[in-house]
Amino acid sequence: MIPAAFDYSRPQTLEEAVNLLAQHGEAAKLLAGGHSLIPALKLRLAQPKTVIDIGRIADLSYIREQDGRIVVGAMTTHHAIETSALLEEKCPLLPEVARHIGDVQVRNRGTLAGSIVHADPAADWPAAILALDAEMETVGPDGPRVIAAKKFFVDLFQTALRSDEILREIRFPVTAKSVAYVKTVQRASGFAIAGVAVVVDAPRMTVSVGITGVAAKAYRATAVETKLAGQSLSAENMAAAAAKAANRVEPLGDIHASSEYRAHLAQLNTRRALVLAASRA
Ligand SMILES: Cc1cc2nc3c(=O)[nH]c(=O)nc-3n(C[C@H](O)[C@H](O)[C@H](O)COP(=O)(O)OP(=O)(O)OC[C@H]3O[C@@H](n4cnc5c(N)ncnc54)[C@H](O)[C@@H]3O)c2cc1C
Repeated sequence: MIPAAFDYSRPQTLEEAVNLLAQHGEAAKLLAGGHSLIPALKLRLAQPKTVIDIGRIADLSYIREQDGRIVVGAMTTHHAIETSALLEEKCPLLPEVARHIGDVQVRNRGTLAGSIVHADPAADWPAAILALDAEMETVGPDGPRVIAAKKFFVDLFQTALRSDEILREIRFPVTAKSVAYVKTVQRASGFAIAGVAVVVDAPRMTVSVGITGVAAKAYRATAVETKLAGQSLSAENMAAAAAKAANRVEPLGDIHASSEYRAHLAQLNTRRALVLAASRA
């Protein structure tokens, strides 16, 4: 449980961090809250030659409304999101998801960007990132780049982020209150066995559904969305749509839940999240 030796740098600015990352390439790892990286170092699942601690870069932690969107800085903690009055008003799915993450210690240190870059298949944020169609703004040696949520999660623990890029901020739409996150929790860790985020856009009669914990990467349940597009959110319609929540995915099976059980939970939690979000419309 002792990490392999590594060099440690603590840049004060984003520019300095980008330069360090360019200099060390794949041999470097960024350190944010450390709640995923440090266990990986201790288990020697990650053995970087250099750890670049971005925790002291002052201007990476913020939540604000800008040009009609909500922008959240990479180093913003789960706790800051959970307790943000602005988010409660303008993007309530984010505090709702944050409340589901781990325990108070995890929420105090863990960051939004750290979680989504780590891309744990059982992490909570990816469901909301997908359901909200968030945009990830990165910065690297070639300047900034924007990655859409649908393209961000590539596979188990893999994202579209390049090894010389830093995720700088995440942008979300302003939404109504008609959102919900319903999760079946793995009791020992708090991670999701099946977590479903739903956004109901009542004026447009559309729903967006992001599902995490079920497959190797979080996904948009497009079959559910298509079935409900333009339909009234009656109990029958929502139940029929939710039955499609695990269509065209390969549910994971492990000691916590078989693949059949995960598929069942995806359907059940989708129905519950749809009912809850619709009741808030
Ligand atoms: C006991 C425990 C319980 C937990 N329970 C849950 C849970 O219920 N739900 C849940 O979703 N998560 C849970 N987590 C994970 C937690 O949310 C972590 O905080 C999160 O996964 C990683 O965030 P971090 O800031 O700690 O990142 P770190 O561990 O510092 O980094 C994680 C990875 O992201 C990279 N990275 C970090 N920031 C950036 C950036 N800005 N740009 C590019 N790369 C970056 C790092 O290089 C590293 O590869 C739990 C963790 C623990 C220890």
